[in-house]
Amino acid sequence: MKKLSIAMLSMVLAGSMLLSACGGNTQQTTDETTDDAAQTEQTTDGGTLVMGTNAAFPPYEFVDENNKVAGIDAEIAGAIAEKLGMTLEIKDMAFDSLIPALSGGTVDIVLAGMTVTPDREQNVDFTDSYATGIQVVIVPEDSDIAPVEQEDGTMAVDLTGKTIGVQSGTTGDIYCTGDYGQENVKQYDNGALAVAALVNGQIDCVVIDNEPAKNFVAANSGLKILDTEYITEDYAAAIAKGNTELYDQVNTAIQELKDDGTIASIIEKYIPSEG
Ligand code: GLN
Repeated sequence: MKKLSIAMLSMVLAGSMLLSACGGNTQQTTDETTDDAAQTEQTTDGGTLVMGTNAAFPPYEFVDENNKVAGIDAEIAGAIAEKLGMTLEIKDMAFDSLIPALSGGTVDIVLAGMTVTPDREQNVDFTDSYATGIQVVIVPEDSDIAPVEQEDGTMAVDLTGKTIGVQSGTTGDIYCTGDYGQENVKQYDNGALAVAALVNGQIDCVVIDNEPAKNFVAANSGLKILDTEYITEDYAAAIAKGNTELYDQVNTAIQELKDDGTIASIIEKYIPSEG
């Protein structure tokens, strides 16, 4: 029997936790577009830090009521840009376009709740991790998909025979395609579209990161997150290989923003800790 949790073991690197408190603020200008084909303009002019993201992944990134990309990653990138004395510009694109955009020079940096994986490390350099995520399964409230207790006492779910929705190119996509076969996995450009397909009854479940999952379940009635335990993934910023100067500057900025509590306070703003 295939269990979603199994495949994750080999992919994940050890986590680093965010510590301390108190805040900082960020400034940004955004120039988001939703059309991949529009992402061709070269905007790196020394003064502008161009960030790529997929802004349908709340609370890490989403389009706010002013039509700007907001969220944890946008604010962290704003704080990084401020430290570097640069203006932040954000480009919104499909998740699976982000690494090609880095390699092609369309964007300078990616913050997208992107998990550090050995495969991606072949193509980009990851900074120190600034947050963590866990893959979870969203199902309709009346679904017959249910976690089963394993011999070691953990809960895992078998999605064999189900149609699974994922965001194209994400770790959820990679795990599910590997475990259950391409023919059972439907890939969507973003999490919101996958969840819409679930609400419409076109698929049986969605595999996605835990914090966006909580947001989508809160925003749509009749859905729930299964109680399963998965390996923690590390989120980090990605920079094109060979862009060492920017990499060093950004990594130093992230370390400083972790040390002075700025990143913890940005995360706390969007994911208030319980109690
Ligand atoms: N953390 C997942 C990944 O890196 C999903 C990220 C996302 O959809 N923005 O693949």
